[in-house]
Amino acid sequence: MSRMHRDRLTTHASDDRNSAGDGAQNHAQSRQKEMRRHERFRLLIQLLAAAFFNGYAAGFLKGKIFTGKTKLLCVPVLNCYACPGALGSCPIGAMQAVAGGRHRVSFYVLGTLMLFGTVCGRLLCGFLCPFGMIQDLLYRIPLPKLKIPRRTDKILRYLKYAVLVIFVLLMPVLTAGPLGGGDPWFCKYVCPAGTLEGGIPLLLKNETLRQSAGFLFSWKCAVLIAVLLGAVLISRCFCRYLCPLGAVYALFNRFALYQMQLDSARCIGCAKCDAACPMALDVRKELTGGECIRCGRCKAACPADAIGSGFQTGKIQNQTKSQS
Ligand code: SF4
Ligand code: SF4
Repeated sequence: MSRMHRDRLTTHASDDRNSAGDGAQNHAQSRQKEMRRHERFRLLIQLLAAAFFNGYAAGFLKGKIFTGKTKLLCVPVLNCYACPGALGSCPIGAMQAVAGGRHRVSFYVLGTLMLFGTVCGRLLCGFLCPFGMIQDLLYRIPLPKLKIPRRTDKILRYLKYAVLVIFVLLMPVLTAGPLGGGDPWFCKYVCPAGTLEGGIPLLLKNETLRQSAGFLFSWKCAVLIAVLLGAVLISRCFCRYLCPLGAVYALFNRFALYQMQLDSARCIGCAKCDAACPMALDVRKELTGGECIRCGRCKAACPADAIGSGFQTGKIQNQTKSQS
């Protein structure tokens, strides 16, 4: 082989390597772009939903709760009834109010939760819940993050079912007298969304309420601070471990109309989906389980377009933008 020929072959090989490197770099950049686009879109939906569920702006100025007819309706997310802007009721609050009253079961609240759960499942947590959005934003704060070992994480996930059963369902009933009057235990002693969206704005505007705030309010603030700090360090920590509404929707997630799907034939095993998942899931195994909040980050991150999502009435859509 002549020297000139050898040189030409070497140049071709190095060109091929460079163009393969450029291709991989372009693909990685297009994935990052796709993720940024997806997250901007998701934040927009979250903001619109928060504004819609809390559309009574005058309530924030007056420090008064909206009491119009829409308050009879449940919203599909953890949005406090006592938030001055709230146009509807939180289903968890409504469930406890009824459980602690004389009528122990509200078929209306149960039916509403079943409807939301069957159609959307935890898509509601990923896209519509204002407290989920607050946690997403807090996790963006550039501080070192805590990685919970997978075994511990799996055990802690069951806590939210305990919160649902003990604080939402049992305690309001057990503390009720013959005429009702049981406390809404979750709202009263735990709910950080209630303190942030309801308690604090009302107290800021109302001198009388401020003077009467005692130990209970301090306790609720301590819970709120712990949850908000937790959200800075552990992504979606309240949704993962404590949210009773997340627990309800997790029961429906597997059967909901909205689903996500993995195309194993396309998957190249790069685990980029795992790195993108805010719920710290083993995405390829747990995508269809109860814990996935359907945020779509794994789908946006996947370089092989192996993850699809959609309502099951039609074909589940795969990501194709990066390929087009
Ligand atoms: S599996 Fe995907 S859609 Fe589900 S929570 Fe994780 S990143 Fe979001
Ligand atoms: S990111 Fe996509 S290709 Fe990579 S492991 Fe996850 S599903 Fe498979």
